[in-house]
Amino acid sequence: SKRQGRNTINFYCAEDDQKGSNSLNVLNALHSAIHNDEFKIAYQPVMNLQSGLVESVEALIRWPNAQFGYTSPEIFIPLAEKFGLICQISDWVLEKACLQGVEWRKNQIFDGRIAVNLCARELRLPNIVERITGVLEKTGLPPEALALEITEGTMVSAPDKVGSVLQTFRNMGISIYIDDFGTGYSSLSYLPQLPANVLKIDKSFIEGLYQEEKNVVIATTILQMAQNLGMAVIAEGVETASQMQFLRKKGCSHAQGYYFGEPMLPAAFQDFACQIKST
Ligand code: C2E
Ligand code: CA
Ligand code: CA
Ligand code: CA
Repeated sequence: SKRQGRNTINFYCAEDDQKGSNSLNVLNALHSAIHNDEFKIAYQPVMNLQSGLVESVEALIRWPNAQFGYTSPEIFIPLAEKFGLICQISDWVLEKACLQGVEWRKNQIFDGRIAVNLCARELRLPNIVERITGVLEKTGLPPEALALEITEGTMVSAPDKVGSVLQTFRNMGISIYIDDFGTGYSSLSYLPQLPANVLKIDKSFIEGLYQEEKNVVIATTILQMAQNLGMAVIAEGVETASQMQFLRKKGCSHAQGYYFGEPMLPAAFQDFACQIKST
């Protein structure tokens, strides 16, 4: 994508990588970022389209890095996965986001769910349930206030194993969101068995709602299917009023995107949440 292109400048170059030097730089930088607490979390509101209130927030990692400039998580998260650093980063995000949730609840700023992204490999690690349970206990966030976002592709790779882990989370009260839905090229037959309660329609379908008729068909079909399966839907990447109106007309319950609010650092989100409550 355009965005990815911009973010890869000076950061990941195939030629450098052949020598392994740039990968090494990134690896070093990620290591010290973990140790020096360089990461931040931005929170993006997910709106309930009926009530107009913030239903949940998605925690999105940010890495303001002097050496490489702004680097998208779409670049460095896969590298962290490759270098075996993802668990350290994930544990940091999870704990930080849970602590933030506890603070917002205490101060009556926001008491909805905090959604955290998990990558495919993590969910298959044997200690994933213990790690997440541990963070909830340590931070004191109620399991009902946590959602885990998992991409569709994650299910396809090991449906039984992943399914039983997800069921354990659901039994604890944690919500499961299927992320980037519609992009995974997967068979739909696994969906009814999946212990997930929310589908997130990928932003590529929302973006193209007015360029391509087929995106209207896809978005409408996903909405109908989710309704039939008793799942809620979050439309991602909503940037315009007309996209929102279309979704509302089709019975979409939730939406997320720049139209409502960009991912915000905690202080900015706090202002946002207070403003919504007072209008
Ligand atoms: P994602 O989980 O699909 O997150 C949604 C992405 O869409 C975010 O990009 C968000 O900033 C962006 N977005 C939100 N609203 C709009 C909109 O209206 N229009 C457009 N064009 N984009 C919008 P971001 O923050 O750059 O994150 C990119 C990806 O990096 C995420 O995609 C997720 O896969 C991954 N990621 C981010 N934070 C974490 C994390 O803490 N852990 C893991 N494992 N992955 C993360
Ligand atoms: Ca996500
Ligand atoms: Ca997504
Ligand atoms: Ca994505």
